Amino acid sequence: DIYGSQRRNSGGPNIDIACEWGPFSAKVNQWLEHQWLGGPIINGQRLDTELRIDVKAPYDQRHLTGHMHFANAELVAQAVQVAHDGFADWHATPVGIRTQALMRLADLLEDNLEELVALCHQEAGKTIQDGIDEVREAVDFCRYYALQANDLFSAPLNRTLADGQSHSLIRDGRGVFVCISPWNFPLAIFLGQVTAALAAGNTVVAKPAEQTSLIACRAVELMLDAGVPGSAIQLLPGRGADVGAPLTADARIAGVAFTGSTETARLINRTLAARDCAPVPLIAETGGQNAMIIDSTSLPEQVVQDAVQSAFASAGQRCSALRVLCVQTDIADRIIDLLKGAMAELNTGNPCLHSTDVGPVIDRAAQQNLLQYVEQMKNTSTLLAQTELHADAAQGTFVPPTAFEIDSIERLGREQFGPIMHLVRYQARDLDTLIDQINRCGYGLTLGIHTRNEGTAAHIESRARVGNTYINRNQVGATVGVQPFGGQGLSGTGPKAGGPHYLLRFTKLSCTQLGG
Ligand code: GLU
Repeated sequence: DIYGSQRRNSGGPNIDIACEWGPFSAKVNQWLEHQWLGGPIINGQRLDTELRIDVKAPYDQRHLTGHMHFANAELVAQAVQVAHDGFADWHATPVGIRTQALMRLADLLEDNLEELVALCHQEAGKTIQDGIDEVREAVDFCRYYALQANDLFSAPLNRTLADGQSHSLIRDGRGVFVCISPWNFPLAIFLGQVTAALAAGNTVVAKPAEQTSLIACRAVELMLDAGVPGSAIQLLPGRGADVGAPLTADARIAGVAFTGSTETARLINRTLAARDCAPVPLIAETGGQNAMIIDSTSLPEQVVQDAVQSAFASAGQRCSALRVLCVQTDIADRIIDLLKGAMAELNTGNPCLHSTDVGPVIDRAAQQNLLQYVEQMKNTSTLLAQTELHADAAQGTFVPPTAFEIDSIERLGREQFGPIMHLVRYQARDLDTLIDQINRCGYGLTLGIHTRNEGTAAHIESRARVGNTYINRNQVGATVGVQPFGGQGLSGTGPKAGGPHYLLRFTKLSCTQLGG
């Protein structure tokens, strides 16, 4: 134990237990008892509204993280107007100045690392490691999109016809972009969407997930400190019906970036289509029913380590997470044995303890849905393993990591967004049928492959229709700029976040003749 403080099975969430994460912990601890206050931010001003929500820590509902003021429909109209009026200025701001502010934001995120990690812990239930990864990814998005914007938008593309006539192809912002972000990456995806839209020259109205609005509010405060003008970024925390619905129905918006469920993406699409005005782009990153295919040449210990990491880290609350482990029959019993052992070793508990492997899920509603699914599955399939919860789990929104064996992938229904894994056996001769069944689920986000046969890996890769494939490793945690992230089919529209084509979808193109 390199930190000298690891206490496996040392009890559950306890608001008196301080963060035990090495030298970094003392600075995080200073923030653990802090109570944050957040609200809508319009034209650079944070507002108090009459709708004030108590924000509670997912790992212990007795712990008050802070208070959040939610917006109403009236503020939605106001925010869109400010963003609409602010577009001309931001659009006219040279790209180098726009991106300087985003580079400064990245520095400010790093300067405020401990507070942001503590807030990720207290509002989103993230472990310390997940909190650090979250801030890291947010920083990467800011810098990556700033650099991309400098490359893509600094100079127009000029072309000359044979008769000497020259034309210039100019890319720039579309107008007011709406960014609707999820609670599972409350800082990274929130800032990924917003910084992409801003870098491309749009003004933004952001609606963060209602469960993690405090984090979004801190991020916008830092953005203003970094020099993004108050007229360029509006924050509208609130309920979907109060904020998301009127926002996406507004005729003044020029595009929507959304990450969340496939159902909500469809709803946004319908709302956009029903507007009696110009059609606008929807960039949607949605769910997955992600598989990992294991053949008999793979290394069982490695498989189980990667499967457990992919299915249960972050309490399974990643759209990239492993949902169905497909194991060649010849090694299935060995894998199941090791899996049972590994799951018995997992620690649930206060995510701020170094010994905790799996923290809580986001809220009571998510917990109830997942637990209900587990009960239902117990009646209709084989329970392989279930991790025991720690003693104080009832105070928080915990779901025990659980694995079921099912007889066919076709038994899988909708995505379960939590620490629940399914296992299915397949015969070597049925590999293609298995891949086709995975494709028929309709999703296409991540795929894990474990094999020591390069030909098998190449074959699976070419037949499967997914956005991100990982070979002989876990299948979560795509790195900005290196593993552009996003799927196809029910998993989203593309373009991939953190990839070289993402910013382009936030822009419009005009071709102008030069010199009359
Ligand atoms: N980019 C994340 C990953 O690779 C997942 C994003 C999400 O869950 O929306 O794990």
